[in-house]
Amino acid sequence: MGPDDDVFVFAQERLAAPALAGVQPWQVLVVDDEPDVHAATVLACKDFQVQGRSISFQHAHSAAQARALLAAPHDFAVALIDVVMETNDAGLQLVRHIREELDNQALRIILRTGQPGYAPEMETITRYDINDYKTKSDLTQVRLFTSLTLALRCYAQLQQLQASRRGLEQILAASRALGQPTGLHQFASGLVTQLCALLAVDEHCLVCAAAQEPGRVPYVLAAAGRYAGWIGQPLSELAAPHIQQSLRQVLQQRQHRIGADICLYIQGAHGLNLAAYVEVARPLEPLERSLLEVFCSNIAVAFQNLQLYLEIKDLAFHDALVGLPNRHALAAAINLHQPEQDMVALLDLDNFADINSVLDPSYGDAVLQAVAQQLQACFAPATVVARLGGDLFGLLGQAGQVTPELITQAFSQPLAVAGGEPLRLSVTSGLVRLSADEPANGAMVLKNASAALKQAKRFARGKALYFEAAQADAARERIQLLNRLRASFSEQHLFLHYQPFVDLHSNQVVGAECLLRWRTAEGQFIPPDRFIPLAEQSGLMVPIGEWVARTALLWRKSLGQRVADDFRIAINVSQVQFAEPDFVARFLDILDAVGVPGYQVEVELTESVAMENLSLLAAKLEQLRACGIRVAMDDFGTGYSSLSVLQGLQLDRMKIDRSFVSGSRAEAGAFEIARTILTLARHLRLSTIAEGIETQAQRDVLRTAGCEEGQGYWFARPMAGPDFVAWLEQRQAQC
Ligand code: C2E
Ligand code: MG
Ligand code: MG
Repeated sequence: MGPDDDVFVFAQERLAAPALAGVQPWQVLVVDDEPDVHAATVLACKDFQVQGRSISFQHAHSAAQARALLAAPHDFAVALIDVVMETNDAGLQLVRHIREELDNQALRIILRTGQPGYAPEMETITRYDINDYKTKSDLTQVRLFTSLTLALRCYAQLQQLQASRRGLEQILAASRALGQPTGLHQFASGLVTQLCALLAVDEHCLVCAAAQEPGRVPYVLAAAGRYAGWIGQPLSELAAPHIQQSLRQVLQQRQHRIGADICLYIQGAHGLNLAAYVEVARPLEPLERSLLEVFCSNIAVAFQNLQLYLEIKDLAFHDALVGLPNRHALAAAINLHQPEQDMVALLDLDNFADINSVLDPSYGDAVLQAVAQQLQACFAPATVVARLGGDLFGLLGQAGQVTPELITQAFSQPLAVAGGEPLRLSVTSGLVRLSADEPANGAMVLKNASAALKQAKRFARGKALYFEAAQADAARERIQLLNRLRASFSEQHLFLHYQPFVDLHSNQVVGAECLLRWRTAEGQFIPPDRFIPLAEQSGLMVPIGEWVARTALLWRKSLGQRVADDFRIAINVSQVQFAEPDFVARFLDILDAVGVPGYQVEVELTESVAMENLSLLAAKLEQLRACGIRVAMDDFGTGYSSLSVLQGLQLDRMKIDRSFVSGSRAEAGAFEIARTILTLARHLRLSTIAEGIETQAQRDVLRTAGCEEGQGYWFARPMAGPDFVAWLEQRQAQC
């Protein structure tokens, strides 16, 4: 060994072989036009071993031949290239071809030349990433060995870097693929695929899930290859004891086991963890081990995210109390419904509020659970059964299987309620048939079903109603009308008409009722029976009512001496107005502000006010009467007030409803009802007035029966204020 011979120590360094490659000799390409150089190179490297791998040479005797060899698939690690061959720079051209055209950056290149004058420029050496440049005479055996070893080592490192970059890219791709919100099973089978791809092994792999919950045993969640048939099997029943043992250990010790086979631990959330077993028929390279670590920790994050997602999804689509899909889930199912699922029903338990308020709330929960079970027993699995909240349940199924009859039948037997007596329940339901031609909009369908249900609750409790598009149109129309009413009210387009009260014996005009009128901007007259209920439902009736009271009182005041001092103005007050806690105080304020004494005022209430708390009602009436205001019960006979209620209230007058006076009922009953009401009023010492007197005969019969006053077209129609005064003056002139 000469003084120039560098001594290199390579052996102690255990470098990883290229990841995922088998133990093969190094492939080295010798390109030289001198046959001797080939022979000398082979001879010099005869027993060389680098990193435990021998060297296998391929020979090209010209640059052209080398190009042909390099064009075929190969695994050359190093090329020893002569500079001067066919031409003076044939070797340099070959290097350019390798780097630029073949885009092979991994191959290590050692340039050799017989003529030092043909040495390449420094720029060429760096540009083409040339490992070494030697004159052939320089290349002693030792120098060749060191040069070659360095080049091979460099190649191995490059390969390793590439492999780990590929591995990391694969892990990123795997994380991306497994990070998609899917289900637990899809996740596990994705894990099988990605893991085997990373290790470049055939897919003989399985993933086992273990929940740390009593009574839940670990089982195979996903599997491929020779284990494919094991999906769903409990861990304890797996036919291979060594696999069983590995998986069990990994799950217990919470760490990977990497031996002849590989068993990985993937930590999840809430005590649900995974163990993945994969067959690898070779020892793993250190790089592969590190990649596996990174892979597992990335996958664990994706797994935990998936669990979180599933949990949120579950919360968003599941009713925890009764274990049924919830409103969102039902709406989603309607959106995606199958053609044969063409009926949606909403079911509301009758009187559930009473059950809940009277009894322990946990009993209410038990009732809801029993209902859920009953509905599932009667309708599932062909029908989707959901709970939409409170005592509202929903069904989505075939029209033949979701019918009013079957719903009634489901509740025909008493329900077994946990911890309580069997309970007999009835339900009211609203149904909507899904159209075959239009895609269903879940939210809209549920809205329609609930409109039908609302109708059913009003008019057909305990029964079912189908949604009719006409109902929806009517509802839409009502809303439009209400908006127009609101605008008309604020633009002061409402006005009052007055209709006189006449004493049936003296024929004197003793008062007048104010009646609200609305003529729209387009000149259309809308009767109060149509718009007042709308105003009542929307809360608009309260401000309108106050306006009515103020306007009517001002009008009463304006009559001055034209009428007797006790001429009374009657004002209709609807139940929603009367139920306002400060109704009396505000009404009296208006009286005060206008300056009309209480005895000139009468309030007309309907029997519906008796729905209010009776003692509160009595107190309000008492306050009004204490100010001299009289109270009349309007439309008497059409409501449901019981005698005892009437007796308990301080009323002044009964107004016999016009249907007993001039409507079809009057003919049929020949005034019998009116007569009975008059007798009743006498017993209760109440004054009486009959509405709707249209003929002289009607007036005569009522007068004979003892009715004190009358109102109706026979005397006068409701009139605008000035017309009323004119009418009054004309009448007085006639007397
Ligand atoms: P109501 O209080 O029973 O008013 C009497 C209704 O009978 C009035 O109907 C009146 O025009 C009508 N009428 C009077 N004489 C006859 C007759 O001889 N034959 C027939 N067929 N009908 C007659 P209108 O004006 O359509 O009012 C309907 C209902 O609207 C009123 O019934 C009352 O309950 C309500 N209403 C009217 N104005 C107001 C108001 O300002 N506030 C409240 N809360 N309700 C009002
Ligand atoms: Mg009235
Ligand atoms: Mg009336």
